[in-house]
Amino acid sequence: MWVLCDRDPVDKWVDGRVALLGDAAHPMLQYMAQGACMAMEDAVCLADSLSRNAGATEAGLESYRARRLLRTTRVQLMSRAMGDHVYHASGPHAALRNSIMSAKTQAEWYAILDWLYGGSGLD
Ligand SMILES: Cc1cc2nc3c(=O)[nH]c(=O)nc-3n(C[C@H](O)[C@H](O)[C@H](O)COP(=O)(O)OP(=O)(O)OC[C@H]3O[C@@H](n4cnc5c(N)ncnc54)[C@H](O)[C@@H]3O)c2cc1C
Repeated sequence: MWVLCDRDPVDKWVDGRVALLGDAAHPMLQYMAQGACMAMEDAVCLADSLSRNAGATEAGLESYRARRLLRTTRVQLMSRAMGDHVYHASGPHAALRNSIMSAKTQAEWYAILDWLYGGSGLD
């Protein structure tokens, strides 16, 4: 029903006064359910970066890119790994997944994901 997009992370999102955002900048698989979330965070960060660099658009775009790159790269790569190692594991791979996942409590899993859900993503 939908095209699934994935690509190795890239760091060139900006060319002069043009910047990429959302899937155009960092297409990711759906296994973390974060593609639209990251696009919305990008939009908020872009507006904030342009505001902080009023009158200096290119500096604002570079600030936006620098502030977003590592977080979106992390989500891109984790989304791919979730697909490969959690959702689509089979045989011994699935048994290892089950063993690792069942060894942690729900609170421990939330703590592991705190970097994603615990803040605004706009540092
Ligand atoms: C199966 C699946 C499940 C998903 N589940 C989730 C989820 O649970 N949570 C989540 O956060 N994300 C999820 N996503 C990801 C999310 O849908 C995307 O990351 C998000 O839509 C990206 O937004 P975007 O604005 O960057 O791009 P898009 O939504 O692709 O928007 C780009 C727009 O540009 C238009 N366009 C293209 N070319 C042109 C042109 N030349 N001129 C004018 N317009 C043009 C397109 O028609 C489109 O409307 C999922 C994706 C898939 C495929």
